[in-house]
Amino acid sequence: MQNIQEIRQAFPILGRTVYNKPLVYLDNGATTQKPQCVIDAITEEYVNVNANVHRGVHYLSQEATRLYEEARMTVRDFIHARSTSEIIFTRGTTESINLVAASFGEAFLNEGDEVIVTEMEHHSNIVPWQLLRSRKGIVLKVCPITDEGRLDLAALEQLFSPRTRLVACAHVSNVLGTVNPVKPIIEMAHAHDVPVLIDGAQSVPHLAVDVQALDCDFYAFSGHKVYGPTGIGVLYGKEKWLEQMPPYMGGGEMIGKVSFEHTTFNDLPYKFEAGTPDYVAAHGLAVALDFVSSIGFEAIEAHEQDITHYALTRLREIPGMRIFGHPQQVSTPLLDREGQGGESSVISFLVGNIHHLDLGTLLDRLGIAVRTGHHCAEPLMHRLGIEGTVRASFALYNTKEEVDALVAGIDRVRQMF
Ligand code: PMP
Repeated sequence: MQNIQEIRQAFPILGRTVYNKPLVYLDNGATTQKPQCVIDAITEEYVNVNANVHRGVHYLSQEATRLYEEARMTVRDFIHARSTSEIIFTRGTTESINLVAASFGEAFLNEGDEVIVTEMEHHSNIVPWQLLRSRKGIVLKVCPITDEGRLDLAALEQLFSPRTRLVACAHVSNVLGTVNPVKPIIEMAHAHDVPVLIDGAQSVPHLAVDVQALDCDFYAFSGHKVYGPTGIGVLYGKEKWLEQMPPYMGGGEMIGKVSFEHTTFNDLPYKFEAGTPDYVAAHGLAVALDFVSSIGFEAIEAHEQDITHYALTRLREIPGMRIFGHPQQVSTPLLDREGQGGESSVISFLVGNIHHLDLGTLLDRLGIAVRTGHHCAEPLMHRLGIEGTVRASFALYNTKEEVDALVAGIDRVRQMF
């Protein structure tokens, strides 16, 4: 990896202080900070280009359209999709999954049909399926996890039935850091003729994703978690499914011809992009993905693996430390290798009897930003028998000194209790 200080300097916010202390930002699972190049790209587009896309013969509109469509190509290349027809811009992972639940659900799911999710899903990969259950009477089945925080693949195999229509599964858990073996899961599902949606919110920033090699049917992720702007995300879908799925929302852009009697729909991917998209954010996302590519996943994975390994070692020295996921016998956290699973840079923990909210609040006063609570994964909290955790989640710009600050902070809080 390039010099870490050089990388940090690309992120202006990392230089600020909070409560007169240097900011230690360890909440990257929630959202990542933005490099100057992304901030500049957004400003530059508003200063020099701004016009609505796809609608104008005039210069600015064509320029904005070009940037928007080039962003789609950047996303296609970044996740190794076959075609830009398969890249739909959404507001984020949540909207991408809701789109599939609504539209795939409309086309392919009927009363009694089954969708399999897992016990470690984020609410955004649970609730859309429950909404569909209320509308259509589908059945939600849940793949359990082991005590080590891994998916129980033998149990998953047992959940398939002739009524199974979809598996919806996180690539990386936002609580446990577990990287699920999505490739074998997809192979298992396809052997039952069942398509698979992968929630890639926590994977795309950390490991190279190749949707064609994985052979997933849908893949969802958010721009803001991969150093891009808020309000933009992606749904990848295989053309064979997207072609058969009805529009999610109606409006401008997604139509072919409109009359009061009959309306036809636009081609892919526009059929799923009703209304004015956030074309500025799409361009910002492309600049963020180019930034990530310029560093390269080999370097990012090595750095994050090093930080995570160091953090696990140091955190485990703290008396009363309870880490969820990251089984102890795995001495080096292994990042995903071609969809076979591993561990990512998310660490959830509790210390003694200290409430997660107290620990998070006191760490904050030391300038350390961590996440506390259920992390939008209440069913997983129930499984673990807890109400919440403190979560430190590392990105490509975090340092071992920041891990040291976290450990020293936890020690200080421990002494107060
Ligand atoms: N899935 C996972 C695993 C996540 O971590 C998150 C964000 N915490 C989401 C989905 C939802 O992402 P967004 O809020 O950007 O739509």
